[in-house]
Amino acid sequence: MTYRRLDIRLPAPAPGVQLTLLAHQFGNRSNARSAYLHAGLHADEHPGLLVLQHLLEKLRQLDAAGAIDGLVTVVPYANPMGMSQRLFGAVAGRFDFENGENFNRNFPLLDQQVAAYLAEAPDRAMLPEQWRILFAGMLGQAAATSPSQALKHELAKLAIAHDIVLDLHCDTDCIAHVYASELQAERATRLAGLMGSPVAMLEPREAGGGAFDQVHSSAWGTVQAAGLLSERDSGFSATIELRGQTDVTDELAAADASNLLRFLESEGVLTAESPATLKMTNQSVEVFPLDGASHVSCPCAGVIVYRKAPGDQVSVGEVIAEVVLLDGNGFNQRVPILSTVNGLMIVRQLKKLVRPGERAALLAGKRSVRDRHAGSLLLDF
Ligand SMILES: [Zn+2]
Repeated sequence: MTYRRLDIRLPAPAPGVQLTLLAHQFGNRSNARSAYLHAGLHADEHPGLLVLQHLLEKLRQLDAAGAIDGLVTVVPYANPMGMSQRLFGAVAGRFDFENGENFNRNFPLLDQQVAAYLAEAPDRAMLPEQWRILFAGMLGQAAATSPSQALKHELAKLAIAHDIVLDLHCDTDCIAHVYASELQAERATRLAGLMGSPVAMLEPREAGGGAFDQVHSSAWGTVQAAGLLSERDSGFSATIELRGQTDVTDELAAADASNLLRFLESEGVLTAESPATLKMTNQSVEVFPLDGASHVSCPCAGVIVYRKAPGDQVSVGEVIAEVVLLDGNGFNQRVPILSTVNGLMIVRQLKKLVRPGERAALLAGKRSVRDRHAGSLLLDF
């Protein structure tokens, strides 16, 4: 058995309050790849929390069988600060109560430091593990000034020490989809296929936002884009949107955990589970560019009724939903919401009382959407 437990103390947000990050580690650093997984960075997203409990159980069995070839680190809840933010009963863990900042934004990115290193370094030919150590050193220099920055810094430091980084999220009501760098199209598509996700969204390097998975991709992507590492030898990070917020069941979580292990096996981190326990899906995956994603807004206040479901095909001008006015002149009066793309509905609202400007749906199209620009491709909500 190689299991270790790490307890990482975070700065106290108030006298008498101690927040701690917990990390479970299996295996050892070796020639095999290492992997880091966490869930619940948006603390109001709970499917991944259960998936990782199933995964930990399976990792313990694999560890006992000597089947973990590399190092696997699992942080079962990435945001104890957000999980403690409750407002009249509901967990309000997507934004920091301190300043309204999205907990999955403004992570420390390394592209500029790595680019500066490449401009200066006399010998730039290095092995992947040497790059990994260099990135960890760069991140160690960043200073954290607030409890939430300290949380982000600790998560980034843990993750950057691994080759593969998987960040488990969910959306309101949606089909599974995977976000990753466009430099890692093969792995993103393989991960989506193994996870049973029909969609992979590929981000340009300059997507912006500072999401957690960009800590890793900003560093590795700069080296890969400079032609110094192949796609296969580079590190890989992805955000996995497991499904919708209410899709929390043991059946789904056990299947998701098995599928995550299949991906780790395909990366050489570990040796497979017994085939009988694996859910042998391999979904066909449609790839969309992130700048083809369209966030369609509600035009007015009312009750939204959908004409399309996540996973449905949509075409430009087609009615995807209607907002039923409660204060109109007529009865059961409706304002249609039209598709802005030819493609797929990915996400819709879970709660149906909406207001103007609220996101009605996330649609994915193949063509770049005019109002979306590199540097601000991630919706802040
Ligand atoms: Zn999320």
